[in-house]
Amino acid sequence: MIDLTKGFSRRQFIASTSCFGAFYAVAKLITLPAMAAEVSSDSRVSQIPIVDKGFASVRKIGNGLYATISDPSKGNTTLCNGGFLVGKDAALLVEGFLSAAGASFQMDALRLVSPVPVKGALDTHYHFDHSMGNAFYGANGVPIWAHAATPKRIVENYAPLQGAEKEAVLGSFEKRIKDAKSETERAHAQSDLNAITGVYLIANASVLALPNHPLDPAKLPMKFDLGGLTAVVESFPGHSGTDIVTRVPDQNVVYAGDLLFNGWYPVCFDEKATISGWRETLKKFAAFDKDTLFVPGHGQICGQDGIASIREVFDDIAGQAEKMYKAGVPVEEAQHRYAVPDKFKNFPVFAWGFTIGPAITKLYAEWKGM
Ligand SMILES: [Zn+2]
Repeated sequence: MIDLTKGFSRRQFIASTSCFGAFYAVAKLITLPAMAAEVSSDSRVSQIPIVDKGFASVRKIGNGLYATISDPSKGNTTLCNGGFLVGKDAALLVEGFLSAAGASFQMDALRLVSPVPVKGALDTHYHFDHSMGNAFYGANGVPIWAHAATPKRIVENYAPLQGAEKEAVLGSFEKRIKDAKSETERAHAQSDLNAITGVYLIANASVLALPNHPLDPAKLPMKFDLGGLTAVVESFPGHSGTDIVTRVPDQNVVYAGDLLFNGWYPVCFDEKATISGWRETLKKFAAFDKDTLFVPGHGQICGQDGIASIREVFDDIAGQAEKMYKAGVPVEEAQHRYAVPDKFKNFPVFAWGFTIGPAITKLYAEWKGM
């Protein structure tokens, strides 16, 4: 119990936000691989992180540029990746993370390297693991920037979970386990239940805090002048309908948010996710300079190899789905039939119904609509 009479110590704060057993069970299977040799030998990338708490570490990846990389197997305080950009006059934080403690952790890391005022924190999109820590920014007077649709989508998706009966939220997922027609379908349904249980618990443990600086996609790209360091924010389609990318063109560094899952199966469940749009976006990323460093939303820092790899994953899903589509396999069946090839067998699948299943459903819908 937290004794409010003694104040709210940092230690208690962190302890109270990291007890999501069901979610941790999913996350702890997701280990962070080492950086690829081309990345760790890149002169922009520091060998030694400025801070490493297990659940995340922060390291320099450019002049005034830092990446926060999460290792879900060691804790879910942050869960997603982020980072910060520090100029002579101001700093920009990237991501709201899974918890206020996660946002606080990154702010502390910024303060290890610079005392400059914080111009803002940017949520790359509305998803819970990138926005549930926003309350930390609210409490500290840090403006929160995000795609203009982000506040609405946070409210629509997470407010209904708060105070809801667990059964009302999880019932349909439990029913799918009972009704499964095969062991494969049952395993997929179980992975979805584990994930949604985590989202439910996290939404109920969080204070929703909404971005107060909307970025109208029609008015992007926009430049952030931080003093000798210019960041360009822009919007691309694909993952969530609210995706914002931060680029530092002078240094070929890109904070990609969840438009890039490096070494993971991409999360495609969002009603605004578009597979063709996402693949187009990745094609644009592939056309960026060959020396571009990418900070993905999840997974290790990478170069163009990471873009090539997620494009291959999409090609593989689309290839298998197209064969089934042409053979007349119904979509209900096709979404469970995808076989993970050997070369991607170490790629985490966060939950089948959040990744591969909806990718196939959406591809079918795109082909039907043609
Ligand atoms: Zn996401």
